[in-house]
Parts: sequence; structure tokens; C-alpha cells
Amino acid sequence: MLSIKGLRANVGEREILKGLDLEVGPGEIHAIMGPNGSGKSTLAHVLAGREGYSVTSGSVEFLGEDLLALTPEERAQQGLFLAFQYPVELPGVNNTYFLKTALNSIRKARGEPELDAVSFMRLMREKLKILHLDESLLKRPVNVGFSGGEKKRNEIFQMAILEPRLAILDETDSGLDIDALRVVADGVNALRSPERAMILVTHYQRLLDYIQPDHVHVLAGGRIIRSGGPELALELEQKGYGWIDAGLAA
Ligand code: ADP
Ligand code: MG
Ligand code: MG
Repeated sequence: MLSIKGLRANVGEREILKGLDLEVGPGEIHAIMGPNGSGKSTLAHVLAGREGYSVTSGSVEFLGEDLLALTPEERAQQGLFLAFQYPVELPGVNNTYFLKTALNSIRKARGEPELDAVSFMRLMREKLKILHLDESLLKRPVNVGFSGGEKKRNEIFQMAILEPRLAILDETDSGLDIDALRVVADGVNALRSPERAMILVTHYQRLLDYIQPDHVHVLAGGRIIRSGGPELALELEQKGYGWIDAGLAA
């Protein structure tokens, strides 16, 4: 589904990703962990095609296509979804309008008809229920005045509506209290499917108590320096990241 090979990328003039390799198959959940400043968010932004990030070498294939050749909109239409560490606020754009536009753009790209208003509202209500979100959320401008927890839940709500093939959640767990974390984890677990892959970027092991990943990777210094199963996350929790760096230096 996603195949990243030797990816190097700069933020401005500075090289942050330094030869990153990652393979993600359908139905898989991958956790990417790593120390602060290691390039986790940079990877998410590069995959989204955000401005200010330039790829200098390497390749990214998504569903057999060259992802890097696509515009950010085309990436979303192909089924890529990103929940950012710091969700953007869109004053003046209400959540319903935003989601309807995004969903219809994806449907159009797939050759599916636009959803009529009634079907769309039914879909919204169904997903609100799964995420224990209040209907008042729909009328509010996207993320404006939302608490940290509300923003994160709103991201999961967006994901539930857009039903992406690949979702990348960048520290969706950070700043959540335990109840909000459970809601987010339940939402993610409810969206697990054999056709959908997810990459959970997280600094802490805590989220992985609620979402069992298939693979765990450590990103440090702009590369994946170790991969393993869920046990790797527990090992990191106990020993920190230092032992891996030490191993690298040796
Ligand atoms: P992580 O998400 O793993 O904490 P980031 O990808 O956010 O790491 O950052 C990796 C490195 O890139 C850090 O050293 C950070 O300071 C730098 N960086 C990130 N964004 C920018 C930017 N817009 N301008 C300059 N440096 C940046
Ligand atoms: Mg960070
Ligand atoms: Mg980050």
C-alpha cells in the first residue's frame, strides 16, 4: 500500500529525513515512535505534500502510484488522510461544510455520485455516535476554540467520515486525558479494516495500551533505526530511546 524507499527531505535548507525506508501493507497498523525532533512530524508533512518541505531523493509509492508527483488534494482523493500534531483552525468554515466538501471531492475522484443532504447527515450522526461527540460540533468552525481533546477527536471524526485507505495520525494522543484517549483509541479501533492501513506517530507508549499495532518502528536522526512488534514499544517505555542510540553508535 505504502512503500517508502531511501527518502531524504529538507525543511528549508536543513536535511531532516536522511534515507527513510518503510513498507506498510493493507490492514496493518504501524506505530512510529522516536525522540522529540527526530523527524516524525516532518515525515507526516512530506507525505501530505505540505509546503516548505522538499524531497531531495528517494521514492514514495502509494497504491502503486508515485505519491510525490501528486498534489496534496490528489493525495487526499487517492485515500490518504493526515491528522496533524497541531490541527489547523479554519475560522468561518463550519465542520459540516468542510467535511461535505472534502468527502464529495474524494467521491468525485472515485467516480461516485455526491451524497445527498439526507444521506450525508445520516453518515455524520452515525460517526458522531461512535466517537461520543456532540452534534453541536457540526455547526462550529473547524477546530476554532476547540480544546486540545476536542481537536483530536474531531480529527478522528474527519477520518471516520472520509474513510481513507491510509491514515497517518501524528501524536493524536498527546495532551489527551485518559477518557479522551480511550475515545480516540475506540474510534481508531472501530475503523480498523483489512483494506485500511494506519500509521500512528506517537512519542509515548500509552496509546499502544489501547491500540495494538502490528509493527513498531523507531525513528531517530531522520531514519527508521529499528523495527519490531508490539514488544518493542514496551521495551522503549522501560529503557527510553538511549539504548538504541547507543547501539547505533557502537
Ligand atoms: P518530531 O515530530 O519527531 O518531534 P519534527 O519532524 O517536528 O520532529 O522536527 C524534526 C526537526 O526539524 C527538528 O529539529 C525541528 O526543529 C526541525 N523543524 C521542524 N519543522 C521545522 C521548520 N518549519 N523550520 C525549521 N526547522 C524545522
Ligand atoms: Mg515533537
Ligand atoms: Mg512531531
